[in-house]
Amino acid sequence: MGRAFVYVILGGGVAAGYAALEFVRRGISHGKLCIISEESVAPYERPALSKGFLLPEDPARLPSFHTCVGVNEERLTPEWYREHGIELVFGTKVKSADVRRKTLLTATGETISYKILIIATGARALKLEEFGVRGSDAENVCYLRNLADASRLVDVMRSCTGGNAVVVGGGYIGMECTAALVKNRIKVTWVFPGKHCMGRVFTPKIASFYEEYYKSMGVNFIKGTVVTSFENDSGGKVTAVILKDGRRLPADMVVVGIGIRANTGLFEGQLNMEKGGIKVNGRMQTSNSSVYAVGDVAAFPIKLFGNDVRRLEHVDSARKTARHAVAAITAPCTTGDLDYLPFFYSRVFTLSWQFYGDNVGEVVHFGDFSSGRFGAYWVGKGRLMGAFLESGSREEYEAIAKAVKLKATVKDMAKLEGEGLEFAFQV
Ligand code: FAD
Ligand code: NDP
Repeated sequence: MGRAFVYVILGGGVAAGYAALEFVRRGISHGKLCIISEESVAPYERPALSKGFLLPEDPARLPSFHTCVGVNEERLTPEWYREHGIELVFGTKVKSADVRRKTLLTATGETISYKILIIATGARALKLEEFGVRGSDAENVCYLRNLADASRLVDVMRSCTGGNAVVVGGGYIGMECTAALVKNRIKVTWVFPGKHCMGRVFTPKIASFYEEYYKSMGVNFIKGTVVTSFENDSGGKVTAVILKDGRRLPADMVVVGIGIRANTGLFEGQLNMEKGGIKVNGRMQTSNSSVYAVGDVAAFPIKLFGNDVRRLEHVDSARKTARHAVAAITAPCTTGDLDYLPFFYSRVFTLSWQFYGDNVGEVVHFGDFSSGRFGAYWVGKGRLMGAFLESGSREEYEAIAKAVKLKATVKDMAKLEGEGLEFAFQV
């Protein structure tokens, strides 16, 4: 049994949704495109799962956050795909791929062939078991990657109101889920191995601002240690978390966010890999010219960083790499290499920050940390490499983004510190 399409998108997440819209804008005819996804719903804005979806009141629910509402574009419901003649093969995992034969084999035994494949398989959450800790499959231990995980997290949270949660991992999931749990009236102990939270982006000074804010919301921090085991009741539910430093934390629920791995497995040995992802060129094309990769799974050259290859795990890059791949496929003569400015952001409680560029070089903080109006610049070889801003206005965020994109020249670090945002506005 088999079907054939000109274009197949493997994966039905953020990148798939933005790629589909771009195909339609570029006039794709009916019956040419197929999207295969293990998830059983049309592509949605994944960031909502750790924000609006977890709100205690008036939470976001599908269909409200299908792509591409994240950038105020059309909301692509299942009907939209039908109307545009796009075949959706949902709730279906692809279990093998043959890039030489240009075929994908689904778990239901169907062979789907393509002329051009876009790999948009994203990533999976790392499990504690991969670090030698057993028992994270208990019903009150939650990971968060997809809609099913988020729905389960909501159910567990609702059964724990007024109780205790342990959040494991000091990154994005830990930070956003801790805020959500607090809003749901659950007391949180946040445990992570580093000296401060969000080590991938925050400086110690920036982290200290957010940690103090979290403490003021009642969050208890335990840093510099990891979980070694769980205690369970007779029904298998976790009742306590045991830490390496010997501490025992009673818990009604646990949320784990200890990083991800890109879903590259189907293509190992068939395509070139780098930085834990599938290596692509500036047109998102892999080492096989009929295969493109976008989003979390793609490692692509960043012009701004001298074509250093990076794999980014953020929604803006998923959206833009997806659109660029479709442009390169449908208009090869007029599409050059992607010139991408890395952009990360988060929103927690009433706080909201954005970061542009690369956090390398010497750091200068500016603004007023006591009032929550602050930022930071990263400077390397006399040029602006990265910029961070909390509580900025649209114009302010645009100004720092532009300054980083232009790699503004910095002559005097002390002056830069004094000028703060003014520096970006002068660029
Ligand atoms: P995904 O959106 O993960 O989609 C991958 C899809 O491929 C999934 O549907 C999956 O089921 C499918 N798939 C995988 N393997 C197979 C297979 N073998 N067969 C069939 N289907 C398959 N980034 C930000 O910048 N800001 C944020 O605020 C933010 N918040 C986030 C909150 C959460 C809870 C999570 C999990 C991530 C968040 N991110 C955020 C990261 C952002 O969502 C990702 O970078 C983005 O989703 C990547 O898009 P993608 O299409 O590459 O992968
Ligand atoms: P992150 O990589 O952001 O953070 C992982 C955290 O887990 C780090 O603090 C890391 O510590 C810690 N860690 C690593 N190993 C262990 C271990 N064995 N035990 C305990 N802690 C450990 O991943 P997340 O899981 O938080 O996020 C998953 C994905 O979702 C990421 O791709 C992220 O970009 C995305 N996401 C993005 C959001 C956003 O952009 N706003 C929001 C939510 C999710 P250390 O740093 O010391 O290694």
